Amino acid sequence: MKISRQVRAALSAAFLALVGAGAAVAADVCGECTAKELCATHGAALEAAFEEWGEALTSEDEGERIEALVALAELSHEHANAPSERAAEALAQAMDDPSLRVRQRVARLLANGQHPEIAVRALVRECERIKQGLGNGNLVQTLASDSDETQVAMAYIANIPKAAGELKDDRCVEIIYKILKQLPAETRGQPIFVASCDALLELGTAKSVEAVFETLSPWSDDPGLRRVHNSVLRCASRRDLEGMPDWGEDCVKGWRKWWRVNKRAFPAKLGKAKLVLEED
Ligand SMILES: [Zn+2]
Repeated sequence: MKISRQVRAALSAAFLALVGAGAAVAADVCGECTAKELCATHGAALEAAFEEWGEALTSEDEGERIEALVALAELSHEHANAPSERAAEALAQAMDDPSLRVRQRVARLLANGQHPEIAVRALVRECERIKQGLGNGNLVQTLASDSDETQVAMAYIANIPKAAGELKDDRCVEIIYKILKQLPAETRGQPIFVASCDALLELGTAKSVEAVFETLSPWSDDPGLRRVHNSVLRCASRRDLEGMPDWGEDCVKGWRKWWRVNKRAFPAKLGKAKLVLEED
């Protein structure tokens, strides 16, 4: 479908007014695609892409699998108002890839302009795996296959909650909250801990923010904990709130006091993730 720049800009503006602005991908909207059905042009593009990349999805080369997944994920960015369920399903399936490197990449793709319901379910399921791995005592051993080095596994573990934190959905809050609560005290300051805290602050519900500053207790002068404190500060500043406590022995007490005044600035619930677009 060929539409002029002006028409597209007008459609884009109308759509933005409809869904509200927020952080998201630079993306185009298509006035003819609907949630139920893609327009002829984009439907054909989807068919052609699966024709071209379908085989590479099961390639033995992980680089080829990633390339195919990136190509399928990009399709939806041309009709961000109606992201393809089929493309998102292909990404969701790739969350079962034996390689953590692939799964980490897929998580990033799912968090960026894909069908929100399919993306949320896939990322929550992946977070459940991390939670189970924590329950089994050795997260890295539980998750990593022979081909994955510890470094890849650690990056993966930190990136999954990060991706889930970008989808504004109560199910993401619930699972990351559970992960944070399950993390043993000695992981405070480690990547999985910091990533879970960051994700909860990004989600920004009352429950998720409170859970984060409570992790500072018992306080110690640890750089990882200080990072968490600074993240809560930034989260509060973004909302133009004031009176936040300074870093130090009394900061947990300070946060609790601050919380009594400012808790209502944070929503109790987010509901389900919706499409979020912004102008490119
Ligand atoms: Zn279209």
